[in-house]
Amino acid sequence: MATERTLSIVKPDGVANGHIGHMISIFEAAGLTIKAAKLVRLTKAQAEGFYAEHAGRGFFGELVEFMTSGPVVLMCLEGENAIAKNRELMGATDPAQAAEGTIRKLYAESKGRNTAHGSDSPASAERELKYFFSEAFELVG
Ligand code: ADP
Ligand code: MG
Repeated sequence: MATERTLSIVKPDGVANGHIGHMISIFEAAGLTIKAAKLVRLTKAQAEGFYAEHAGRGFFGELVEFMTSGPVVLMCLEGENAIAKNRELMGATDPAQAAEGTIRKLYAESKGRNTAHGSDSPASAERELKYFFSEAFELVG
């Protein structure tokens, strides 16, 4: 296993419902380290660009509207197998399918409003971290 970095997002429902602290605790308890973090309100263009792979899907408009509906927390998580580990801690996209104890099982309302984002591969982690963080000034160590 290799040390990896991945992008985590506390989505607008997670921030609005007061779950930032618990989500960070879940990541830290699993051995992941926060290498960068910021709370921001995404613009429509930023959300559309971030989710570009889903442009044209039926839920795209709803997704962009949701992701711009309130502030989000963007984080770089680092650790052994961080990409898969974060996905495991989040649980399945649809909370109805998510395993007990996962973030989405605990907090997500629906497949759309599902509280957490995590990069799904090394290539997306690299793209997504570059999309939101500057290597020189924002990523620690
Ligand atoms: P994941 O976030 O688990 O990687 P996807 O990459 O498939 O899932 O989808 C990105 C995001 O788009 C999901 O987390 C969810 O917020 C939204 N989404 C996906 N599928 C649907 C759907 N069928 N209806 C509404 N929103 C959806
Ligand atoms: Mg995805």
